[in-house]
Parts: sequence; C-alpha cells; structure tokens
Amino acid sequence: MEIKRETLADTSSLRVRQHQARDLLRGDMGDEELERYVEERVLTTTVEKAVGWAQGNSIYPLTFGLACCAIEMMAIVGARMDVARFGWEAMRASPRQADLIILSGRVSIKMAPVIRRLWDQMLEPKWAISMGACCSSMGVFNNYALVPADKFMPIDVHVPGCPPRPESLMHGILKLRDKIQGHSVEGWRERYAATGTEELLPDAADLGTANVNVFKPGDTAGA
Ligand code: SF4
Repeated sequence: MEIKRETLADTSSLRVRQHQARDLLRGDMGDEELERYVEERVLTTTVEKAVGWAQGNSIYPLTFGLACCAIEMMAIVGARMDVARFGWEAMRASPRQADLIILSGRVSIKMAPVIRRLWDQMLEPKWAISMGACCSSMGVFNNYALVPADKFMPIDVHVPGCPPRPESLMHGILKLRDKIQGHSVEGWRERYAATGTEELLPDAADLGTANVNVFKPGDTAGA
C-alpha cells in the first residue's frame, strides 16, 4: 500500500466550516444554505436497516466441523481469505454464544439429532450454511446412512462443491450477509424466469408444492 503525505492545501476551508457551524448554532443560516448543509452531513436510515447492517458485519460462527469440508472452512480465518474483514472471525465454542452454524461435511443419521440439538441451543436470530455436496444432497455418499441438512433444520445458504474451496465459502458468506442485511439476491429460477425446471416427484401434483424438489419422507432414493 502506498502512503502519500500531503500538506493541508486549503487551511481556509477549516475556517469556512467553523463559520458555517457558528452560523448554524446561532440560527443565522439561510434556508437554501441550511438545506445544503444538512444534505451534505445527515444520513437517514431505518432501525431495521441499521440493525441488519450491524448483524451482517458481526457474525459469531460456531466452532464446528463435520468432515473433510471442515478443513476448507478453517482456511477462511487464515491470512489469505481473512474472514475478519467482514467481522465473521470470532468463532465461539458454545452454541449459546454463536449465531451461525456452518455444516461443513456429511451428516450421518446418527449425527443429525446432535446437530439439531446444537441448532436448538443457539439463540435467535441465527443462520445456517450447508457447506459441500454431502451436506446439501448427500454428495458422493448418497446412501441410507446419510441425510441432507434440509431434512432436519432450516438452511439459509447452500455452498456447492466437493469440497468447496474457501473462496466458495466466502461467496456463500457474502450471500448470507446480503440476506441478513435485507437485500438478498433472487435465486436463479427467479432471475431467469426458469419456471418449469423444478424436479417433480411423479405424484407431486397429489402431494402439493411442499414436495417439489425433495424426496418423500422415508424415501431411500439413491441408496
Ligand atoms: S462434500 Fe466432499 S469434501 Fe465435503 S464432506 Fe463431502 S466428500 Fe468431504
């Protein structure tokens, strides 16, 4: 980074600002000048946006890893990715102090209740990222022993890949930050008006929209 030192070129501007502040306090400022003064200095927002901004820049992730994806997840706190740039680096050892869980790896049916308990112990507001193909769709181990995370808890962002590189997780983190701050991007189906591309179960019409794109309860498809 280049550091440039410059002398204060216009010392009179400080005097001008001092005079403006004095006029403002005395009530001597004209309407037009007052309006311009306020426009240059006042920022308005809503409480929701301010809270969203603060929350999105101060996430405490749970110190939690499941499998090989966890190694990639650990890389985000290193100097190369440096998740601290976004205020997400303070990993917590207790779910009661965390507001994000990154499911980094495959989830076995035996492990699912443990994860669900950790999730339930986290206080609201809380978020979840499903990292890697295993966690989202059982990935290369698509068999009876594994379960996708959406089956037992809500997931905010899915990060695809096997394993996803730390850059991919960072992309997911920024997407989640957008969501927390209230300006989440639309999914690709909405963006490209790609209706009709959903995977439908053969009897989906009878079961209702809740069964679109998911297996039926107890379905062992792929086993
Ligand atoms: S998605 Fe790949 S890297 Fe991640 S847990 Fe599964 S097998 Fe491992």
